[in-house]
Amino acid sequence: MIFAGVRKTGQVDLEAIEMLVRGSLHRAGAEILSRLLSQPCGETSQTPCACGQAAQYHDTRPKQLLTVLGPVEFQRGYYVCPTCRQGQSPRDRELDVEGVSCSPGVRRMMAVVGSDSSFQQGRQQLELLAGIEVTAKAVERQAEAVGGDVEAYQQSEIQRAKQLELPEVCASAVPILYIEMDGTGVPVVQAETEGRAGKVEGQPAHTREVKLGCVFTQTSTDQHGRPVRDEASTSYVAAIETAAAFGLRLYTEAWRRGWSRAQKKVVIGDGAIWIWNLAEQHFPGAIQIVDLYHARQHLWELSAKLLADDHKLRKRWIARCLDRLDRGNIEGLVKILRDVPPVTEELAKTVTNEVEYFERNADRMRYPAFRAQGLFVGSGVVEAGCKIVIATRLKSSGMFWTVRGANAIIALRCCRLSGRFEDYWADRGRAA
Ligand SMILES: [Zn+2]
Repeated sequence: MIFAGVRKTGQVDLEAIEMLVRGSLHRAGAEILSRLLSQPCGETSQTPCACGQAAQYHDTRPKQLLTVLGPVEFQRGYYVCPTCRQGQSPRDRELDVEGVSCSPGVRRMMAVVGSDSSFQQGRQQLELLAGIEVTAKAVERQAEAVGGDVEAYQQSEIQRAKQLELPEVCASAVPILYIEMDGTGVPVVQAETEGRAGKVEGQPAHTREVKLGCVFTQTSTDQHGRPVRDEASTSYVAAIETAAAFGLRLYTEAWRRGWSRAQKKVVIGDGAIWIWNLAEQHFPGAIQIVDLYHARQHLWELSAKLLADDHKLRKRWIARCLDRLDRGNIEGLVKILRDVPPVTEELAKTVTNEVEYFERNADRMRYPAFRAQGLFVGSGVVEAGCKIVIATRLKSSGMFWTVRGANAIIALRCCRLSGRFEDYWADRGRAA
């Protein structure tokens, strides 16, 4: 083929040649692999059956497998239990291919590409980069299967944490440990939102909320006394689930990251009530901070509603409000809000809500005190996390998820972005 191409065009097409040679080497490798795997390796006459009896050697049967070298067929012993008639191939378990049609190497590749980009793009990447031809649906199935397994692995950790069987972490102490939480919507298929109200009253919801938490550490401040996040110290957990379930998930992660030996503990979030309920329940004693930028946003939005027509007055009013907020003088701020004579009943209600928001969170808004300790006062890390972990993969146009599918991919992304995927992969199956 190579020489025919050269004769025809007078040119050497290196790319065509290298792809051709790679394909040939893969086929040769697949042939070697199927012979290696078909070697008899001390097969016994019987093997334990799940029912408690012994399964007897029956015959040798072929299995097809997609490997990183391409499709492979190999022979392995098949056992049948005379008591319950259940059949099995212990070799499949040993090779980690029980009940699946892809080798571990291919499954890892599919999990990586399927968690990074759309399943269709993942399919293209596998073909171009690894010479493996699969369907987008196969990438989806395998990536979600690995993601589901990551989640099961984490659930076993969470169950241990719940029963207070956590391993005592005995590394060096953490100077400051931060926990940030936030929620973000992911578009879902219609069946996942039935009976749920949307953001617009009277309209159905099109999204479900993912709760995202991140844990990171801080050791020092810069020359201006501003906090510096420890490089590569951020780990993530997230899922579409209830606040109660998410609380345990985040608690387990915080514990793993050294919550019990942190010298200073900080929780940062916006004003969402579930965040502060979880903070009280799972992280008592932590310094609680409401994200300064969210608080400012509340004032900007309120000023737009109250003083939309009077540009000059609005400017003066917002400056006074922001000044009180930045100085942590929430009592002074509330006084300003109360002094505004609202024109309509609806506006009066809005003002009352805002007053309640600031009063409820007053002690979480003592920004000068937090700054004096060199602490972060914004939830920028979790907001970036919403983009990096969730939006870039799950919120592309035309994507609609099932909760199960979304949670599998979210679990996989959190695991990889937290730098834990290699540990999980090495450990997998051992926990079961
Ligand atoms: Zn049996």
